[in-house]
Amino acid sequence: MRIIVCIKQVPEGIDVKVDPETKRIVRDGVKSIINPYDLYAIEEGIRLKERFGGETWVISMGPPQAESAIREAIGMGIDNGVLLSDKKFAGSDTLATSYTLSLGIKKIGNFDIIICGRETLDGSTGQVGPGIAEHLGIPYITYVSKIIDIKEGKIECKRLMEDHYEIIKAKLPVLINVVKEINEPRIPSLKNMLRAKKIEIPIWNAEMLGGDQSLFGQEGSPTKVIDVWTQTIKKEGRKIEGEPEKLVEEIINEFKKLGVL
Ligand SMILES: Cc1cc2nc3c(=O)[nH]c(=O)nc-3n(C[C@H](O)[C@H](O)[C@H](O)COP(=O)(O)OP(=O)(O)OC[C@H]3O[C@@H](n4cnc5c(N)ncnc54)[C@H](O)[C@@H]3O)c2cc1C
Repeated sequence: MRIIVCIKQVPEGIDVKVDPETKRIVRDGVKSIINPYDLYAIEEGIRLKERFGGETWVISMGPPQAESAIREAIGMGIDNGVLLSDKKFAGSDTLATSYTLSLGIKKIGNFDIIICGRETLDGSTGQVGPGIAEHLGIPYITYVSKIIDIKEGKIECKRLMEDHYEIIKAKLPVLINVVKEINEPRIPSLKNMLRAKKIEIPIWNAEMLGGDQSLFGQEGSPTKVIDVWTQTIKKEGRKIEGEPEKLVEEIINEFKKLGVL
């Protein structure tokens, strides 16, 4: 069984900066991490291999520095990784991103399960996973909280909804996106970290992916960011001091004034 996990490198923290001219996220000089939701996708990929056997891959589309995210995933126990990187991919919206990733996945080939995170910290559209599945013409199951079984060419999953669960079966190959509830991501092991340091990560560009070159990057993106701005959050605080009984009374009065109570 071949399992491919899609991971995105995102700026660390919630303080995402946007270039006022280009309306693009500023990535230079900003510490980047694996999108936290994708750690659950990586972990589930490794667990599936442990349960059912096979081979695991990670794929990421991004600038050259995204290679470090791939190495980190290999450090956790993923077998192979590939980076899709080319200036032509810049300015991709979710449609162009999912098209590019679908070509990379086809190039890896013979896939049975593709795993994505629920959404990213920076873009947080949650559209890329379903987009990849549409480009590949395969079924997808979103918000998977448990993989119950894989047998006879089918996967059975538990799906987390707002106030209930669903059990869904789909034919392989399939794409799933996973929620935090599915597992607890492991810490990279020393043995895997050493392997991750040495392994060669291929970088595939637009030409190597083939496909319709006009569907990459800005040219292939039907949506454009017209404007973007950051919200200024005012932090205000008041220190309340005094005897405990009086304090409780004062805090309740403060909350009443704020309309919280
Ligand atoms: C109109 C528009 C214009 C944009 N223009 C730009 C731009 O000019 N420059 C720019 O940097 N960004 C741009 N973006 C953001 C860019 O589209 C997203 O970074 C990208 O498509 C991923 O979308 P997302 O972050 O919402 O991922 P989601 O759909 O929330 O991600 C879900 C899952 O998909 C997988 N995934 C997502 N992205 C990747 C990836 N790159 N590689 C591997 N797996 C992935 C991960 O498993 C992730 O957990 C634009 C977005 C929009 C809507």
